Amino acid sequence: MSQAGTAQTEKGAAKRRCPVITEDGFILSLNPRTGETLKKIPITPAEDVKKIVEEAREAQKHWAAMSFSDRERALKKVSQYFLDNMDAIAEEIAQENGKTVYEAVLMELLGAIDFITWFAGRAKKALKDRKVPLHLMPTARSYLTYKPVGVVGVIAPWNYPLITPISDIAPALAAGNAVVFKPSEFSSGVGQLIERCFKEAGFPAGVLRAVYGGGDVGAALVSSGVDHIGFTGSTATGKKVMETASKSLTPVTLELGGKDPAIVMPDADLDEAAQGILWGGFSNMGQTCASVERVYVHEGVYNAFRDKLVAQAKEHLNMEASNPESQFGSMNNELQAALVNNQLKDAEEKGANILFRLETPDNEGHYSAPTIIDGVTEEMEVFSAETFGPIIPLYPFSTADEAVKKANDSPYGLTASIWTKNYNRGEMIARSLHAGVVTINDHMITPGFAEAPWGGVKDSGIGRIKSEDALRGFSEVKYIYHDRGMMPHKAWRYPYNKAKLAFLKDMAIANNDMSLVNRAKAYMRVLPQFLFGFKKQD
Ligand code: NDP
Repeated sequence: MSQAGTAQTEKGAAKRRCPVITEDGFILSLNPRTGETLKKIPITPAEDVKKIVEEAREAQKHWAAMSFSDRERALKKVSQYFLDNMDAIAEEIAQENGKTVYEAVLMELLGAIDFITWFAGRAKKALKDRKVPLHLMPTARSYLTYKPVGVVGVIAPWNYPLITPISDIAPALAAGNAVVFKPSEFSSGVGQLIERCFKEAGFPAGVLRAVYGGGDVGAALVSSGVDHIGFTGSTATGKKVMETASKSLTPVTLELGGKDPAIVMPDADLDEAAQGILWGGFSNMGQTCASVERVYVHEGVYNAFRDKLVAQAKEHLNMEASNPESQFGSMNNELQAALVNNQLKDAEEKGANILFRLETPDNEGHYSAPTIIDGVTEEMEVFSAETFGPIIPLYPFSTADEAVKKANDSPYGLTASIWTKNYNRGEMIARSLHAGVVTINDHMITPGFAEAPWGGVKDSGIGRIKSEDALRGFSEVKYIYHDRGMMPHKAWRYPYNKAKLAFLKDMAIANNDMSLVNRAKAYMRVLPQFLFGFKKQD
């Protein structure tokens, strides 16, 4: 299974390199529903990227010299700008991305606004000096300090063109860094929108820069001398980024693909599970790294759950392009729609059952029909490859151990969910799932929480974003040790002699011996030198 999953990701990444780049050096920002060109965005020549990073480094000096409160104010003006212009921004995102305005608000703007506010407000507390008490040297001052790493490079995919880059941009800026970011060629219009919002909110010039282009511009950013790369995208590209970054030892955070499982236990609230899994699989047209792509249902409730899921899909979902309450937009681009549609065709041809399929609008857009299937076998691509589209496959299981084994049998390990009313059992299963994030009775809820760390294991990535740790992750940590002259023995210094050696051995016993009596005796022996140091003749 793991081989199949990785191979498909690589194929998919290669296929998606695509024709929005013109020969005369522009990116076409397209409306995927109509094919209309919304904007022509000049490509940043790859050879200019280094200079832009150097300019950002200059701007960063002033930004880093500002107080936490001043930086907080500047960032909060940006989130206020997003708040004040929510409707227009959501409309602009929906136009280029294909998602609905509703999901542009729900899944992009709410999080982006909250992240900027939260990281801005939290930086001072998270990055203040931290004591590191030393049990061997209790009187020394010992602590950690944090300072910005310098310039952070952020490389983002197209599926969440606002919230994904902001998830790195907000903590990186709040920690005092400058950022140079590269949006996907399929979301460069939203990249410009981000730049514009920061500018119009009065954010200091030069601290946030964008570069536009395809993979070559991304690769140029990785090797430009930035001090950290926050990459989100496919596993195949993530590996290339890490390889390039290794040449300059640039630290990377990699947020990569997923094939996320949901496990429905026999005691689950089936209505609730059906609702949550329907949304977890279909929202954003399934173009979410953490979308539900495998549903394991206990055989005792399989039929009941399947019928509820299909009934809810029939009742609630519609996909009329002109209907403002439509739950679905179009896929973001033609190649991704083709990849998903081919996976479905392959499954159908090999005998999968189509339990539900929504009619797609009859217009020029790039659509994939939200579809629920079962009868999926290992030979089908959808079984193991990342889909990144609206297909929900159902599989029965008979024991919890079997469900965990199947859920873990994937090269990916981003998130997983468990649906049960038995909370203790749910948490036990959560601990045995090999994933970066596990949710019980919900799926894909935590990407919206600034405090919650995000990231995967195995082919799903390296490192974690969000949470206070993100602020520290974009910082250089320095450990400071200060001997304040209150430890007179200095037994490690010259001259070496028998008394000092005996003292050192006794210290080892006093701190580590399993016998309390031995420890106490050793303490008594070292106490005089510990308090008063060694005499000249010792
Ligand atoms: P890609 O890996 O194709 O692209 C991601 C970004 O990397 C784009 O900006 C791309 O530019 C750029 N890029 C391409 N080649 C290179 C290179 N050699 N060096 C540096 N940068 C490069 O992913 P997609 O855009 O197709 O996004 C979909 C993938 O992202 C899915 O696998 C999905 O699961 C994953 N993802 C993971 C998330 C997570 O949090 N774990 C969240 C969202 C998505 P360009 O597009 O212009 O070529």
